[in-house]
Amino acid sequence: MAFKVLILGGTSEGRQLAEQLALDARFAAVLSFAGRTNAVQDPGVPYRVGGFGGVPGLVACLRRERYEALIDATHPFARHMSAHAVEAAELTTVPLLRVEGPAWSPIQGDRWTLVTDMEHARLALGERKRRVFLSVGRLEIGAFRAAPQHDYLIRAVDDFDPELPRARVLAARGPFDIEAEQALFERERIEVIVSKNAGTAATSAKLVAARRLGLPVIMVERPFLPEAATVATFEPALAWLHALHEASLQRRGV
Ligand code: NAP
Repeated sequence: MAFKVLILGGTSEGRQLAEQLALDARFAAVLSFAGRTNAVQDPGVPYRVGGFGGVPGLVACLRRERYEALIDATHPFARHMSAHAVEAAELTTVPLLRVEGPAWSPIQGDRWTLVTDMEHARLALGERKRRVFLSVGRLEIGAFRAAPQHDYLIRAVDDFDPELPRARVLAARGPFDIEAEQALFERERIEVIVSKNAGTAATSAKLVAARRLGLPVIMVERPFLPEAATVATFEPALAWLHALHEASLQRRGV
């Protein structure tokens, strides 16, 4: 019987882990998506879409499907799902591993203002009308409706109506290139950038471009997450699963 793994996805690390496991007959992994983007790209591995129904739903799913390991490879800002994973793992005793890379940190030349959430990011923009590059999602745009005076260029995975008088949406999926980011900021005469501290390589080019152009960045810090065993990339997660699988074979005397 294959070793069953549930991967809470949302990042490229989760996808890469699922791809590796799909090549190995000893494992049966399912990649789970929230279904936030309009079109979930078929990952080419077994997957499911949609919430579980809070902690009770996740617990029920882990028990019903007899999962033997849980991987939290969600985005660092997916704080509800990550918290649910910790609680459900405790309740079911299914081993949990979080895959989360380090946050970005400023280096010389960066002009960052750190804020705790989108409301504070909007306040940090100030009253004076500015040309703002927002790399935030549809669900986070609400905080900026209280500051409709700014010109917003919003980059998000899907197009949507931002319900702001002076906003345009640029629908695009990373990875992004430094030269292209710099050209975009120059062409659009961007004055300030708002970003979440995702920490991913795929979306870090905007920070390099901002540094080159001397642009200020309002950086939304990561939310607090309950503690969990954590690795930075999919490779150690794979090694962790191999070790768990070995241990389960030994327990069963196989
Ligand atoms: P969230 O606030 O932590 O999640 C809200 C709810 O969505 C969860 O309680 C859960 O519903 C469901 N959900 C989230 N991730 C799921 C998953 N992988 N599989 C099944 N259900 C999931 O997270 P979010 O900020 O809405 O983000 C949703 C997804 O988009 C995450 O998978 C995340 O990795 C990805 N993403 C988020 C960001 C971001 O900035 N937040 C950026 C890129 C990608 P139930 O309680 O019903 O189980």
